[in-house]
Formats: sequence, structure tokens, C-alpha cells
Amino acid sequence: MSLILENVVKKFDGTTVVNSVTARLTDGEFFVVLGPSGCGKSTLLRLIAGLEQVDEGKIALNGAQVSGVDRHVPPEQRQAGVVFQSYALWPHMTVRQNVAFPAEAAGMGRAQIADIVENSLNTVDLMPFADRLPASLSGGQRQRVALARCLAGGARTVLMDEPLANLDPHLRGRMEAEIRRFHKDAGVTTLYITHDQREAMALADQIAVMWGGRFLQIASPQDIHDRPATEEVARFIGRAA
Ligand code: ADP
Ligand code: MG
Repeated sequence: MSLILENVVKKFDGTTVVNSVTARLTDGEFFVVLGPSGCGKSTLLRLIAGLEQVDEGKIALNGAQVSGVDRHVPPEQRQAGVVFQSYALWPHMTVRQNVAFPAEAAGMGRAQIADIVENSLNTVDLMPFADRLPASLSGGQRQRVALARCLAGGARTVLMDEPLANLDPHLRGRMEAEIRRFHKDAGVTTLYITHDQREAMALADQIAVMWGGRFLQIASPQDIHDRPATEEVARFIGRAA
């Protein structure tokens, strides 16, 4: 199992934002968390990345417990890369320097870093842009730099928080295909967050429908569509269609 969530709970000021979430992701799976704005998706991702601490429950990544009531492995030791909606690239660094950053921070040798960076940039077809600054790239290209940086950091699990939300509609379809290709080529497990039902259906092996902090149903896109487990799932899928 790449990622195990066991009754994960997170509260802010007494309000439960993530409510007893349980799920298991197998190696290489593309797992989509689908739910409306404010249902707790980003908080769940931040818990998995180690950017927030759980109040209850456990999280395990690649066989090791990383979160629990008495345990909190720091983000940089989790082998999980995060791609945010806003890319979060360093504006003053070239593409190559951005991608090298996590490997440098981990203290790898120069030759090894050069190798890893070249492989990662090739995976996302960005080698020709290696010496450019992020400001000179398109939104889709910046998104690919963020993906390459995940890979270079040794991520075996990639967490994506609505990575296409800032892109033009025509670019979104292309990036969806690229994200799917990246997922396959890089051989990573992907947890992908979105409020867009169509995007979820197009990308997912499994979809977890999230509502008010809970996972209401975890199933294939087909089953979610054909056999919604609750009234809320049916309404959310129906309303967004
Ligand atoms: P989503 O990503 O699904 O839109 P979020 O996880 O961002 O939802 O937020 C879920 C709820 O938790 C919202 O009501 C939000 O205001 C609240 N929340 C998120 N982060 C914090 C925080 N650091 N402090 C207090 N409340 C928060
Ligand atoms: Mg969010």
C-alpha cells in the first residue's frame, strides 16, 4: 500500500474539518478526491504532506507510519511531493535550479543531482527550457516544472491540489492528458484533489467523494456514476454533470 488513511480527524477551533477519513491507495493508483469547495480536501492533503498534524487517526506512506497522535514525520522526510494550484516555483531561479532544489536540500552530490534533474526534465519534456526563468513559461509549462520538481525530490507519492484550476479551459484538457502520462511514466501513486466532476471522471482509477469532511463513497468512476452510495453523492454527481 502506498498510502493508508485510518480514521483521520482534523479540527480547527473545535470544528471538525476532516471527519474520520479512511482509505487505502495501492502502488501506482490514480486516486481522486472529489468534493465541493470547503469540504476539507486541501486540509486532508496538508495532513498527508505533513503540513498539518492530525488530531486523531493514522497516516502511513509506503509502509511507514508518518502521522498519528504521537507521531509526526516532517514533510521533507515523507517521499511525498506536492503540486499546488499556484505552482509555488522560485521566481529568481531557472527551471533547472527549481527542479534541483529539493535534491540539493537533501544533500545529494552534484553529479547525482545533475542526473536526476535531467531525467525529471525529460519526463515532462522540458529539457529545452532548462535555463529559462518561470516567468517566461506558460501556465502548463510551469505546472510541468512543478511535476518535475516532485520527481527530482524522490517523491513516490504525488499530491496534487487542484493543479489545473488556474489554467485556461483549452489548456486544461491538454494538461489532463499530460498529468495522466506523467503519472504512468514516473510510476508514482497520485492523490489528486478537485471539485470538478468531469476532471475526476477523466483521470481517476478510484474516486472518493468528499462531503462535509467525510468520504461518502470510494469507487471507480463508473460505479460512482451508476451506483451512488448516498443521496449526497447522487446529487453532487448529478448537479455537476
Ligand atoms: P477545500 O479544499 O475542500 O475547499 P479546505 O480544506 O481548504 O477545503 O477547508 C475546509 C474548512 O476548513 C473550511 O471551512 C476552511 O475555512 C477551514 N480551514 C482550513 N484551514 C484552516 C485553518 N488553518 N484554520 C482554521 N480553519 C481552516
Ligand atoms: Mg482546497
